[in-house]
Amino acid sequence: MSNTPVERVYIGLGSNLADPAEQLRNALKALARLPASELAGVSSFYVSDSLLPGQPRFTNAVAALDTALTPLALLDALQAIELDQGRERHERWGPRTLDLDILLFGERVIDEPRLKVPHYHMQARAFVLYPLAELAPGLRLADGRDLSALLADCPFVGLERLSAQA
Ligand code: ATP
Ligand code: MG
Ligand code: MG
Repeated sequence: MSNTPVERVYIGLGSNLADPAEQLRNALKALARLPASELAGVSSFYVSDSLLPGQPRFTNAVAALDTALTPLALLDALQAIELDQGRERHERWGPRTLDLDILLFGERVIDEPRLKVPHYHMQARAFVLYPLAELAPGLRLADGRDLSALLADCPFVGLERLSAQA
């Protein structure tokens, strides 16, 4: 595995099956065990309405990871954690035990078939932006956008902040 200097990565976590909060807690333990990486912070947990109607509500959070893994090595590791926690891929945006998305990877802009960073829909997703702002309120994205400006355009709607990582 080829390594790079340590970079700050933000990872979006989501689950709407099989005890979602427990799925997130298990995923955080798995993130903390990743090689060449250190879990640097975790937001509160949030509950959000699903993007598609008729699905259970999601539990979401954002984690900060300092890692020397390459972006594709990290993606492989996140997908292995998803599979380990029973992720099955059927319909797009279907219900899932665990979704781990790379939101931001240092200052990088990545446009590869398997990996687009910044995550392509993060600016429209309250369940990403509000937990991310807990960890990094003054964040500026690699493409120059300020998180505060994205938040101003993304109302806190359909989202509920839980008091703890519960
Ligand atoms: P969405 O991307 O809208 O949040 P999703 O998370 O449900 O949807 P997945 O089924 O988890 O989508 O992932 C589909 C593919 O997206 C993955 O196989 C992966 O290669 C690709 N992908 C592209 N960019 C990213 C990223 N930034 N983080 C995670 N996966 C990504
Ligand atoms: Mg996703
Ligand atoms: Mg995903």
